[in-house]
Amino acid sequence: MLSVGGDFHEVCDECGFHGGTLDPSATVARMRALPDRWSEVMSQDEALLRARPEPDTWCAIEYAQHVINAIASIEWGARLFAAGRAPDWDELSEDSLPGAFEHATHDCGRFELADTLESLTVVANSMAAFAESLTPEEQAVVAVYADDWVINTTAVIRHALHDAEHHVLDVRRGIARQQLRR
Ligand SMILES: [Zn+2]
Repeated sequence: MLSVGGDFHEVCDECGFHGGTLDPSATVARMRALPDRWSEVMSQDEALLRARPEPDTWCAIEYAQHVINAIASIEWGARLFAAGRAPDWDELSEDSLPGAFEHATHDCGRFELADTLESLTVVANSMAAFAESLTPEEQAVVAVYADDWVINTTAVIRHALHDAEHHVLDVRRGIARQQLRR
C-alpha cells in the first residue's frame, strides 16, 4: 500500500492492480464490469469450474463465492469508514453475508453456478451504488482497516475491486492448469 499525496494506492505485483490509476468513477465502472468479467471466465464446462486444480487451491465456484463474501464484507467495513469509524471485523456476522463457506472443505456443490453469478452481480452493484453515493469528505476518511493498514474509504472500496479482479486471474490459471493436464 503506497501513501501518495493523502491517498492510498494498493499495488499488486501478481495481477498488476494499481489503485493509483483508478479515480472514484473509474472504480465504480470497473466494479460494475465485474459480473461480465466473472461470467466470461466462468463460461466453461462446469466440471472445470468445480474441480480444484490442486487439493488446497479453490475451484472457480469457491473463488467466486469468496469474492461475493469479500465484496459484501468490505462494503460493510467501508460503510463504517464513511461514517468515520474503523471497522471491528469481529462484529461482522459471517452468517449474515452471502458466500460464506468452509474454506478447508471442498463442497461447492451447494452453490449453483447461476446463483453464484447472480449473487456476484448483486454485491458488485451494491458496492458500486454505495461508492457512487459518497461525498468527497466520506471518500477521504482515514481509519484503521486492519493491522498496519491505515487507509481511506476510497482505498477500502478499491481493495474490494482488487480482490475480485485478482481472483479472475486465479480462476483463469486454475482452468488452464486443468486443461493442460487433460
Ligand atoms: Zn492482485
